[in-house]
Order: sequence, then structure tokens, then C-alpha cells
Amino acid sequence: MFIGHYGAGFAGKKIYNGPSLGTMFFAAQFLDLLWPVFILLGIEKVKIVPGLMAANPLDFTFYPYTHSLFFTIIWGIIFGAVYFFIRKNLKGSIILGSLVLSHWILDLLVHRPDLPIFPWSDLKVGLGLWNSVPVSFTFEILIFSIGAFFYLTETKPKNKTGSFALWGLLIFLSAIFIANVFGSAPPSVEAIGIAGLSQWLIVAWAYWIDRNRYNISEQKKIRANYQADSV
Ligand SMILES: [Zn+2]
Repeated sequence: MFIGHYGAGFAGKKIYNGPSLGTMFFAAQFLDLLWPVFILLGIEKVKIVPGLMAANPLDFTFYPYTHSLFFTIIWGIIFGAVYFFIRKNLKGSIILGSLVLSHWILDLLVHRPDLPIFPWSDLKVGLGLWNSVPVSFTFEILIFSIGAFFYLTETKPKNKTGSFALWGLLIFLSAIFIANVFGSAPPSVEAIGIAGLSQWLIVAWAYWIDRNRYNISEQKKIRANYQADSV
């Protein structure tokens, strides 16, 4: 799954406006931000098998440290704990930890049974929506669009950048997603790793967007408080 995870990150801002959109994306995509690093270092393994699944040519032969349920829970706890340590914000840390876990759950829906439960056992799961291009494509676009809709309706641009940066990201992610689904298989494992690393830029992009937008309900609250004070 690719843009569906960003949909989850957008939705996080609807649930709670505390952390930046960048931090929400960071959490929702945390496993796939680590994975290319582990792939390039040779710690985890992937093979390119064109035609393996209708909507995905990657055979995830070994990725227990980033994609087992066991490690996902550990990463979620670490992510939440670090956020709590820095921001002293319990609600924010719980939502971010849950977003890390949401990644595994969304992957579970589309992957074939290649997601390990524990790093030390052969028990692997996956519901295989990637076996159908129309089903997985529609499903992922839907999650992404719902999340983006939440963010678009919950926030307003402070300036032109706040509008252009967001729409630019939405168009950019959609275009890459379409190219991934309908394009040819990646040329090499290194190419997958490098393309994967570029997702760190998406996180940076989201921080930039969030700095140039404000939250509507928060603004209303501040205004209400101000009016109550001035009466
Ligand atoms: Zn993943």
C-alpha cells in the first residue's frame, strides 16, 4: 500500500489537531520509511517478480524487522514514547502510536500472506486485495480521498503556499500511485530502495503544508474564548 497510508495520516489530523501533518505522515508511513533503509543495507530482502500479484510485482521474502506485527507494535510504542518525551502530549503520542499500527493493518488488506506475525515464526498473513487491480486501486484511492477530504475541510490555507503546497502534494502522490499501479515493474532492488527513501521528502513536504494552514475548529475556539474574555 502506498497513498492509503497518507490517507490515514490525513485522517489523524481530523481526530486530533495536536501533532503536525508531517508527524502524522511520519507515523503512518514509519514502516515504509525504515524499509528502504533496511533493504539498501541488506538487512531485509525483496525480489522483483513481474506478475506475482496483479497490482504488485514485489515478493517480500524477508522483512520481519519493519513489517512483522510484533515489531510494528514495538515501533508504535517507541514512536509514541519519543513523541511523549519531546512534547509531553499523551493524546498525541497515543494517536501517533496507533498510526504506526494502522500501517500494518492497511498492508494486511492488500498484501498476499507475506506479513509475519512474529519475526521468529513462519506464520504469515495477508488478505490479498492486490490480486485485483480494480479492487485494490479503488480501495486505496478511497482511503486517500477520505483522509484528504478530512484535512481539506478541517484546515484552511493561511496564505497561497498553504493552498498550492497541499494541492501539489495531492496531485503528485496520485500521479506516482497511478504510475506505480499501471507502470512496469521497477528495474532493480536498489531502485526500489532509492525510490522508497524519497518518501522522507513527502514527510518534509507535509510539515511545510501544515505550517501554512490553520485548523478551523481551533480558530473558532480561540475566537469564542476571546469574545468571552472581552464581554
Ligand atoms: Zn508497508
